[in-house]
Amino acid sequence: MRWMHHFGVNDFSQMSDIAKTLREKLQIETEITPPTVQLEQVSDDGTRKWLIGTDGANSIETVFIPEDDRGTLCISSQVGCALECTFCSTGRQGFNRNLSVAEIIGQLWVANHSLRQADGYNMLPPSERIISNVVMMGMGEPLANYDNVVTAMQIMLDDSAYGLSRRRVTLSTSGLVNAMDRLKEDCPVALAVSLHAPNDALRDVLVPINKKYPIKELMVACERYLVKAPRDFVTFEYVMLDGVNDTVEHAHQLLNVVKNVPCKFNLIPFNPFPESGYETSKPSHIRVFRDILMSAGYVVTVRKTRGDDIDAACGQLAGKVLDKTKRTLKKQIPIEAVA
Ligand code: SAH
Ligand code: SF4
Repeated sequence: MRWMHHFGVNDFSQMSDIAKTLREKLQIETEITPPTVQLEQVSDDGTRKWLIGTDGANSIETVFIPEDDRGTLCISSQVGCALECTFCSTGRQGFNRNLSVAEIIGQLWVANHSLRQADGYNMLPPSERIISNVVMMGMGEPLANYDNVVTAMQIMLDDSAYGLSRRRVTLSTSGLVNAMDRLKEDCPVALAVSLHAPNDALRDVLVPINKKYPIKELMVACERYLVKAPRDFVTFEYVMLDGVNDTVEHAHQLLNVVKNVPCKFNLIPFNPFPESGYETSKPSHIRVFRDILMSAGYVVTVRKTRGDDIDAACGQLAGKVLDKTKRTLKKQIPIEAVA
Protein backbone atom coordinates (compact mmCIF):
# COMPACT_ATOMS: atom_id res chain seq x y z
CA MET A 1 0.00 0.00 0.00
CA ARG A 2 2.85 2.39 0.89
CA TRP A 3 4.50 1.89 -2.50
CA MET A 4 1.29 2.56 -4.38
CA HIS A 5 -0.07 5.46 -2.38
CA HIS A 6 3.03 7.15 -0.88
CA PHE A 7 5.27 6.80 -3.89
CA GLY A 8 2.75 6.37 -6.71
CA VAL A 9 4.49 3.21 -7.92
CA ASN A 10 2.34 0.90 -10.02
CA ASP A 11 4.93 -1.69 -10.97
CA PHE A 12 5.70 -4.47 -8.46
CA SER A 13 9.29 -4.85 -9.73
CA GLN A 14 10.13 -1.39 -8.33
CA MET A 15 8.99 -2.26 -4.79
CA SER A 16 12.52 -2.92 -3.67
CA ASP A 17 11.91 -3.80 -0.01
CA ILE A 18 9.52 -6.63 -0.88
CA ALA A 19 11.06 -10.11 -1.29
CA LYS A 20 11.72 -10.90 -4.93
CA THR A 21 9.66 -14.08 -4.84
CA LEU A 22 6.67 -12.20 -3.42
CA ARG A 23 7.04 -9.47 -6.02
CA GLU A 24 6.99 -12.11 -8.76
CA LYS A 25 3.93 -13.75 -7.23
CA LEU A 26 2.13 -10.40 -6.98
CA GLN A 27 3.05 -9.63 -10.59
CA ILE A 28 1.39 -12.86 -11.73
CA GLU A 29 -1.63 -12.91 -9.47
CA THR A 30 -2.64 -9.25 -9.15
CA GLU A 31 -2.51 -6.04 -11.06
CA ILE A 32 -2.30 -2.34 -10.29
CA THR A 33 -4.23 -0.39 -12.90
CA PRO A 34 -4.30 3.37 -12.57
CA PRO A 35 -7.52 5.01 -13.75
CA THR A 36 -7.62 6.32 -17.32
CA VAL A 37 -7.40 10.09 -17.48
CA GLN A 38 -9.27 11.33 -20.55
CA LEU A 39 -8.59 14.99 -19.99
CA GLU A 40 -6.91 17.26 -17.46
CA GLN A 41 -7.87 20.91 -17.37
CA VAL A 42 -6.30 23.77 -15.45
CA SER A 43 -8.23 26.89 -14.58
CA ASP A 44 -6.76 30.39 -14.42
CA ASP A 45 -7.14 30.26 -10.65
CA GLY A 46 -5.15 27.01 -10.33
CA THR A 47 -8.16 24.72 -9.94
CA ARG A 48 -7.63 21.45 -11.82
CA LYS A 49 -10.13 18.98 -13.11
CA TRP A 50 -9.58 15.43 -14.31
CA LEU A 51 -12.07 13.64 -16.49
CA ILE A 52 -11.61 9.97 -15.69
CA GLY A 53 -13.01 7.20 -17.90
CA THR A 54 -14.94 4.50 -16.09
CA ASP A 55 -16.54 2.27 -18.69
CA GLY A 56 -18.03 2.76 -22.14
CA ALA A 57 -19.25 6.31 -22.57
CA ASN A 58 -19.19 7.10 -18.86
CA SER A 59 -16.80 9.45 -17.15
CA ILE A 60 -16.47 10.92 -13.71
CA GLU A 61 -14.85 14.12 -12.60
CA THR A 62 -12.38 14.93 -9.85
CA VAL A 63 -11.43 18.48 -8.91
CA PHE A 64 -8.42 19.93 -7.05
CA ILE A 65 -8.86 23.33 -5.40
CA PRO A 66 -5.65 24.96 -4.16
CA GLU A 67 -5.95 27.52 -1.37
CA ASP A 68 -3.34 29.36 0.70
CA ASP A 69 -3.41 26.97 3.61
CA ARG A 70 -4.70 23.76 2.03
CA GLY A 71 -5.21 21.74 -1.13
CA THR A 72 -8.64 20.13 -1.37
CA LEU A 73 -9.60 17.28 -3.66
CA CYS A 74 -13.27 16.81 -4.51
CA ILE A 75 -13.99 13.16 -5.25
CA SER A 76 -16.93 11.44 -6.97
CA SER A 77 -18.62 8.36 -5.53
CA GLN A 78 -21.07 7.30 -8.25
CA VAL A 79 -21.63 7.67 -11.98
CA GLY A 80 -24.72 9.89 -11.85
CA CYS A 81 -27.05 9.91 -8.86
CA ALA A 82 -30.46 8.43 -8.19
CA LEU A 83 -31.68 11.04 -5.74
CA GLU A 84 -32.95 13.60 -8.24
CA CYS A 85 -32.42 16.83 -6.35
CA THR A 86 -34.04 19.31 -8.70
CA PHE A 87 -31.20 21.91 -8.74
CA CYS A 88 -28.39 19.38 -9.37
CA SER A 89 -27.17 18.46 -12.83
CA THR A 90 -25.80 15.11 -11.60
CA GLY A 91 -29.28 14.29 -10.30
CA ARG A 92 -30.84 15.34 -13.60
CA GLN A 93 -28.52 12.97 -15.41
CA GLY A 94 -29.91 9.93 -13.58
CA PHE A 95 -28.07 7.05 -11.96
CA ASN A 96 -25.66 4.84 -13.82
CA ARG A 97 -23.70 2.85 -11.26
CA ASN A 98 -21.65 2.85 -8.06
CA LEU A 99 -17.91 3.39 -8.29
CA SER A 100 -15.68 0.61 -6.96
CA VAL A 101 -13.22 1.16 -4.11
CA ALA A 102 -10.42 1.27 -6.70
CA GLU A 103 -12.23 3.89 -8.76
CA ILE A 104 -12.80 6.07 -5.69
CA ILE A 105 -9.30 5.87 -4.20
CA GLY A 106 -7.90 5.92 -7.76
CA GLN A 107 -9.07 9.54 -8.07
CA LEU A 108 -6.77 10.49 -5.19
CA TRP A 109 -3.96 8.46 -6.76
CA VAL A 110 -4.36 10.16 -10.15
CA ALA A 111 -4.58 13.66 -8.69
CA ASN A 112 -1.57 13.13 -6.44
CA HIS A 113 0.48 11.58 -9.21
CA SER A 114 -0.30 14.26 -11.74
CA LEU A 115 0.13 17.18 -9.29
CA ARG A 116 3.57 15.81 -8.32
CA GLN A 117 4.62 16.27 -11.94
CA ALA A 118 2.99 19.66 -12.42
CA ASP A 119 4.79 23.00 -12.52
CA GLY A 120 4.90 24.62 -9.13
CA TYR A 121 4.47 21.30 -7.34
CA ASN A 122 7.21 19.15 -8.84
CA MET A 123 9.93 20.52 -6.57
CA LEU A 124 8.08 19.72 -3.34
CA PRO A 125 9.60 17.00 -1.16
CA PRO A 126 7.53 13.77 -1.07
CA SER A 127 6.86 14.35 2.63
CA GLU A 128 4.96 17.53 1.87
CA ARG A 129 1.26 16.94 1.15
CA ILE A 130 -0.17 18.65 -1.91
CA ILE A 131 -3.62 17.26 -1.19
CA SER A 132 -4.28 18.02 2.47
CA ASN A 133 -8.09 17.63 2.45
CA VAL A 134 -10.57 15.40 0.68
CA VAL A 135 -14.25 16.17 0.23
CA MET A 136 -16.70 13.55 -0.99
CA MET A 137 -18.68 16.21 -2.85
CA GLY A 138 -18.26 15.25 -6.48
CA MET A 139 -20.77 13.27 -8.49
CA GLY A 140 -23.09 10.94 -6.62
CA GLU A 141 -24.45 10.37 -3.13
CA PRO A 142 -21.57 8.80 -1.17
CA LEU A 143 -23.78 7.14 1.44
CA ALA A 144 -25.73 5.37 -1.30
CA ASN A 145 -22.47 3.57 -2.15
CA TYR A 146 -21.71 2.95 1.50
CA ASP A 147 -19.33 -0.02 1.59
CA ASN A 148 -17.08 1.16 -1.22
CA VAL A 149 -16.95 4.75 0.02
CA VAL A 150 -16.15 3.73 3.60
CA THR A 151 -13.38 1.36 2.49
CA ALA A 152 -11.90 4.06 0.25
CA MET A 153 -12.03 6.61 3.10
CA GLN A 154 -10.33 4.13 5.42
CA ILE A 155 -7.47 3.98 2.90
CA MET A 156 -7.35 7.80 2.90
CA LEU A 157 -6.97 7.74 6.70
CA ASP A 158 -4.49 4.85 6.79
CA ASP A 159 -0.92 5.91 7.61
CA SER A 160 0.42 3.39 5.11
CA ALA A 161 -1.53 5.15 2.38
CA TYR A 162 -2.48 8.84 2.66
CA GLY A 163 -2.60 9.30 6.44
CA LEU A 164 -5.19 12.09 6.40
CA SER A 165 -6.79 12.92 9.74
CA ARG A 166 -10.52 12.17 9.94
CA ARG A 167 -11.27 15.88 10.26
CA ARG A 168 -9.63 16.50 6.89
CA VAL A 169 -11.92 14.08 5.09
CA THR A 170 -15.46 15.42 4.68
CA LEU A 171 -18.41 13.42 3.44
CA SER A 172 -21.36 15.34 2.07
CA THR A 173 -24.76 13.67 2.14
CA SER A 174 -28.26 14.65 1.16
CA GLY A 175 -29.33 13.05 4.44
CA LEU A 176 -29.51 9.24 4.35
CA VAL A 177 -30.22 8.89 8.04
CA ASN A 178 -29.65 5.13 8.42
CA ALA A 179 -26.29 5.32 6.69
CA MET A 180 -25.28 8.36 8.79
CA ASP A 181 -25.83 6.23 11.89
CA ARG A 182 -23.60 3.50 10.47
CA LEU A 183 -20.94 5.98 9.41
CA LYS A 184 -20.47 7.39 12.90
CA GLU A 185 -19.49 3.88 14.04
CA ASP A 186 -17.48 2.76 11.00
CA CYS A 187 -15.61 5.89 9.90
CA PRO A 188 -16.59 9.12 11.69
CA VAL A 189 -15.18 11.64 9.24
CA ALA A 190 -16.32 15.27 9.12
CA LEU A 191 -19.94 15.48 8.03
CA ALA A 192 -21.59 17.95 5.67
CA VAL A 193 -25.34 17.76 5.17
CA SER A 194 -27.12 19.20 2.14
CA LEU A 195 -30.02 20.89 3.87
CA HIS A 196 -31.02 23.47 1.24
CA ALA A 197 -34.46 24.17 2.71
CA PRO A 198 -35.76 25.12 6.16
CA ASN A 199 -39.11 23.31 6.00
CA ASP A 200 -40.32 19.93 4.79
CA ALA A 201 -42.72 21.29 2.15
CA LEU A 202 -39.84 22.98 0.31
CA ARG A 203 -37.23 20.30 1.00
CA ASP A 204 -39.57 17.60 -0.31
CA VAL A 205 -39.32 19.37 -3.66
CA LEU A 206 -35.65 20.34 -3.72
CA VAL A 207 -34.21 17.21 -2.07
CA PRO A 208 -36.83 14.49 -2.61
CA ILE A 209 -35.14 12.02 -0.21
CA ASN A 210 -36.63 14.34 2.42
CA LYS A 211 -39.93 12.47 1.99
CA LYS A 212 -38.22 9.41 3.44
CA TYR A 213 -36.05 11.21 6.01
CA PRO A 214 -37.75 14.50 6.94
CA ILE A 215 -35.93 17.41 8.51
CA LYS A 216 -36.69 16.57 12.14
CA GLU A 217 -35.32 13.04 11.77
CA LEU A 218 -32.31 14.39 9.93
CA MET A 219 -31.53 16.90 12.70
CA VAL A 220 -31.73 14.23 15.38
CA ALA A 221 -29.42 12.03 13.29
CA CYS A 222 -26.95 14.95 13.13
CA GLU A 223 -27.07 15.24 16.93
CA ARG A 224 -26.41 11.49 17.23
CA TYR A 225 -23.51 11.77 14.80
CA LEU A 226 -21.80 14.28 17.07
CA VAL A 227 -22.31 12.41 20.33
CA LYS A 228 -19.04 10.54 19.97
CA ALA A 229 -17.09 13.58 18.82
CA PRO A 230 -18.42 16.47 20.91
CA ARG A 231 -15.84 18.93 19.63
CA ASP A 232 -16.96 18.36 16.05
CA PHE A 233 -19.75 20.12 14.17
CA VAL A 234 -21.92 19.48 11.15
CA THR A 235 -21.62 21.75 8.14
CA PHE A 236 -24.99 22.50 6.63
CA GLU A 237 -24.80 23.20 2.92
CA TYR A 238 -27.46 25.51 1.58
CA VAL A 239 -27.75 26.23 -2.13
CA MET A 240 -28.95 29.78 -2.75
CA LEU A 241 -31.83 29.72 -5.26
CA ASP A 242 -33.32 33.05 -6.22
CA GLY A 243 -36.79 33.53 -4.78
CA VAL A 244 -37.04 29.87 -3.77
CA ASN A 245 -35.23 29.40 -0.45
CA ASP A 246 -33.34 32.66 0.10
CA THR A 247 -35.73 35.04 1.91
CA VAL A 248 -35.38 36.57 5.36
CA GLU A 249 -38.21 34.31 6.52
CA HIS A 250 -36.31 31.23 5.28
CA ALA A 251 -33.21 32.32 7.21
CA HIS A 252 -35.18 32.60 10.44
CA GLN A 253 -36.84 29.21 9.88
CA LEU A 254 -33.41 27.73 9.28
CA LEU A 255 -32.11 29.01 12.62
CA ASN A 256 -35.02 27.34 14.33
CA VAL A 257 -34.52 24.04 12.52
CA VAL A 258 -30.83 23.62 13.41
CA LYS A 259 -31.00 24.95 16.96
CA ASN A 260 -29.93 21.70 18.65
CA VAL A 261 -27.07 20.84 16.29
CA PRO A 262 -23.58 22.31 16.72
CA CYS A 263 -23.03 23.51 13.17
CA LYS A 264 -21.59 25.84 10.59
CA PHE A 265 -23.19 26.95 7.36
CA ASN A 266 -21.87 26.86 3.84
CA LEU A 267 -24.00 28.93 1.51
CA ILE A 268 -23.51 27.83 -2.10
CA PRO A 269 -24.60 30.26 -4.82
CA PHE A 270 -26.51 28.09 -7.29
CA ASN A 271 -24.44 27.04 -10.30
CA PRO A 272 -26.79 27.35 -13.23
CA PHE A 273 -27.03 24.73 -15.95
CA PRO A 274 -29.26 24.67 -19.04
CA GLU A 275 -32.96 24.22 -18.38
CA SER A 276 -32.51 23.98 -14.64
CA GLY A 277 -35.46 26.31 -14.05
CA TYR A 278 -33.57 28.03 -11.22
CA GLU A 279 -31.51 31.17 -10.92
CA THR A 280 -28.73 32.14 -8.55
CA SER A 281 -29.76 34.33 -5.63
CA LYS A 282 -28.88 37.98 -5.91
CA PRO A 283 -25.62 38.82 -4.09
CA SER A 284 -27.47 41.29 -1.86
CA HIS A 285 -29.94 38.57 -0.81
CA ILE A 286 -27.09 36.17 -0.06
CA ARG A 287 -25.48 38.85 2.12
CA VAL A 288 -28.70 39.48 4.07
CA PHE A 289 -29.23 35.73 4.54
CA ARG A 290 -25.63 35.27 5.69
CA ASP A 291 -25.85 38.19 8.12
CA ILE A 292 -28.96 36.79 9.80
CA LEU A 293 -27.17 33.49 10.45
CA MET A 294 -24.01 35.27 11.57
CA SER A 295 -25.91 37.55 13.94
CA ALA A 296 -27.20 34.43 15.63
CA GLY A 297 -23.58 33.47 16.32
CA TYR A 298 -22.93 30.95 13.55
CA VAL A 299 -19.86 30.65 11.36
CA VAL A 300 -21.02 31.08 7.79
CA THR A 301 -19.01 30.75 4.61
CA VAL A 302 -20.26 31.69 1.19
CA ARG A 303 -18.65 29.39 -1.32
CA LYS A 304 -16.44 31.19 -3.77
CA THR A 305 -16.77 30.17 -7.36
CA ARG A 306 -13.60 28.38 -8.31
CA GLY A 307 -12.61 26.89 -11.63
CA ASP A 308 -15.48 28.63 -13.40
CA ASP A 309 -13.70 28.59 -16.73
CA ILE A 310 -13.40 24.78 -16.65
CA ASP A 311 -16.86 24.04 -15.20
CA ALA A 312 -15.27 22.66 -12.06
CA ALA A 313 -17.88 24.04 -9.70
CA CYS A 314 -20.27 22.23 -7.48
CA GLY A 315 -23.23 20.68 -9.21
CA GLN A 316 -21.62 21.04 -12.61
CA LEU A 317 -19.68 17.83 -12.40
CA ALA A 318 -22.00 15.99 -14.72
CA GLY A 319 -23.91 16.04 -17.91
CA LYS A 320 -21.10 17.72 -19.79
CA VAL A 321 -19.39 14.50 -20.64
CA LEU A 322 -21.00 14.24 -24.04
CA ASP A 323 -20.92 17.97 -24.60
CA LYS A 324 -17.30 19.05 -24.41
CA THR A 325 -17.70 21.48 -27.28
CA LYS A 326 -19.41 24.11 -25.14
CA ARG A 327 -16.53 24.38 -22.71
CA THR A 328 -14.26 27.36 -22.70
CA LEU A 329 -10.98 25.64 -22.13
CA LYS A 330 -8.15 27.82 -20.97
CA LYS A 331 -5.60 25.10 -21.15
CA GLN A 332 -5.89 21.46 -22.05
CA ILE A 333 -3.21 19.00 -21.14
CA PRO A 334 -2.96 16.02 -23.46
CA ILE A 335 -3.54 12.68 -21.80
CA GLU A 336 -0.03 11.45 -22.60
CA ALA A 337 1.41 14.18 -20.39
CA VAL A 338 -0.52 12.83 -17.43
CA ALA A 339 -0.02 9.11 -17.91
N1 SAH B 1 -24.68 13.90 -3.05
C1 SAH B 1 -24.03 14.62 -2.05
C2 SAH B 1 -22.68 15.18 -2.44
C3 SAH B 1 -22.49 15.75 -3.82
S1 SAH B 1 -23.02 17.32 -4.27
C4 SAH B 1 -24.91 15.70 -1.50
O1 SAH B 1 -25.93 15.97 -2.10
O2 SAH B 1 -24.60 16.23 -0.45
C5 SAH B 1 -22.07 18.51 -3.29
C6 SAH B 1 -22.93 19.74 -2.93
O3 SAH B 1 -23.26 20.52 -4.10
C7 SAH B 1 -24.25 19.37 -2.29
O4 SAH B 1 -24.53 20.21 -1.21
C8 SAH B 1 -25.21 19.62 -3.43
O5 SAH B 1 -26.52 19.78 -2.98
C9 SAH B 1 -24.62 20.85 -4.06
N2 SAH B 1 -25.10 21.13 -5.43
C10 SAH B 1 -25.59 20.27 -6.34
N3 SAH B 1 -25.93 20.92 -7.46
C11 SAH B 1 -25.65 22.22 -7.27
C12 SAH B 1 -25.76 23.38 -8.08
N4 SAH B 1 -26.22 23.33 -9.33
N5 SAH B 1 -25.35 24.55 -7.56
C13 SAH B 1 -24.84 24.62 -6.30
N6 SAH B 1 -24.69 23.55 -5.50
C14 SAH B 1 -25.11 22.37 -5.97
FE1 SF4 C 1 -27.39 13.36 -5.80
FE2 SF4 C 1 -26.23 15.15 -4.17
FE3 SF4 C 1 -27.03 15.86 -6.65
FE4 SF4 C 1 -28.84 15.34 -4.78
S1 SF4 C 1 -27.32 17.01 -4.78
S2 SF4 C 1 -28.90 14.60 -6.90
S3 SF4 C 1 -27.85 13.69 -3.66
S4 SF4 C 1 -25.42 14.39 -6.15
